[in-house]
Amino acid sequence: MQSNSVLYLSLIVPVFNEVETVDLFLDRVNRVFECQVSVRLEVVFVNDGSTDGTLDRLLECQKSDSRVRVVDLSRNFGKEAALTAGLQVATGQVVVPIDVDLQDPPELILEMIAKWREGYEVVLGRRINRDSDSWAKRVSATWFYRIHNKIADPEIPENVGDFRLMDRTVINALNALPESRRFMKGLFAWVGFRTAYIDYSRPERIAGTTKFNGWRLWNFALEGMTSFSIDPLRIWTYFGAMVAFFSFILGFYIALKVLFLGVDVPGYASIFVAITFLGGLQLVGIGIVGEYLGRTYLESKRRPVYLVRHVYEPGDAEDCFLSSKGMSAHRYSKSGSL
Ligand code: UDP
Ligand code: MG
Repeated sequence: MQSNSVLYLSLIVPVFNEVETVDLFLDRVNRVFECQVSVRLEVVFVNDGSTDGTLDRLLECQKSDSRVRVVDLSRNFGKEAALTAGLQVATGQVVVPIDVDLQDPPELILEMIAKWREGYEVVLGRRINRDSDSWAKRVSATWFYRIHNKIADPEIPENVGDFRLMDRTVINALNALPESRRFMKGLFAWVGFRTAYIDYSRPERIAGTTKFNGWRLWNFALEGMTSFSIDPLRIWTYFGAMVAFFSFILGFYIALKVLFLGVDVPGYASIFVAITFLGGLQLVGIGIVGEYLGRTYLESKRRPVYLVRHVYEPGDAEDCFLSSKGMSAHRYSKSGSL
């Protein structure tokens, strides 16, 4: 049972070219939390290399709102890296990653807090419909979950995004994970903890456009599956053994046929088909090995997940431009410290 005293809550908001949505987001958050005296709030925006004036907008907001902190990354590292940065910087007792486009309704956080007070360490927002997504995204998401959860361990809960409440113990566990290729949905599932669900219907983006096109989603899905399963590698052992077994039987059959019936020259079409088919399969197999080898290669470099140009804390907005020169690299250590 968690106490009913003042709760220190961190929202983590990755932003990439979101100049239209920042104000709308903060207005809505203000409306939700203005009467919540039992919640102390910090809003950690992670500016993921925006090129459209988002950073200026955020710093403008920070001048009038001392709950706003801004982590400015040195370039666009992608949402996963931005989230990772936010998790490292957030100081709250509970932390909620949330999209700035209001597709994750901030009102739900109050319900999540209620669940947390009941003793859950993770409270997931589960989408009960995907009407706001395109048809292609819906179909690909369904297949992604189906295939991923068949081959990967642990399963990712279906229709659950990054919008969730997590207790400090969960955040510490996540920050202590050492890998630099970070598929957050998978990592969230991997750490486990007592979990509750809250259903909601996902609205349309309030303004601006989505940053995830088909190709990016495909790569995201590949990242997810290869990060949490080696089944795609192992399947080739079984497949290869099966093909070898059948070709052995075929060879035996042909040898007997030659012994008893003499040599005949059948058409070459079947041989050609077999060669191209098996050649194609071998290339797919090599491609899959390549996926893993590439990921191992990238992981082995031990490069930081993101680079921070500057962290703008409330109150230092005036001199922040002067002190934004130094760049710091962030890597994982066991303690999860920066
Ligand atoms: N985002 C980010 N870096 C990126 C892409 C997206 O920080 O490279 C942020 C974006 O600003 C938004 C959130 O991730 O706050 C979700 O992005 P989006 O709404 O475009 O994704 P969708 O909801 O369409 O899946
Ligand atoms: Mg969105």
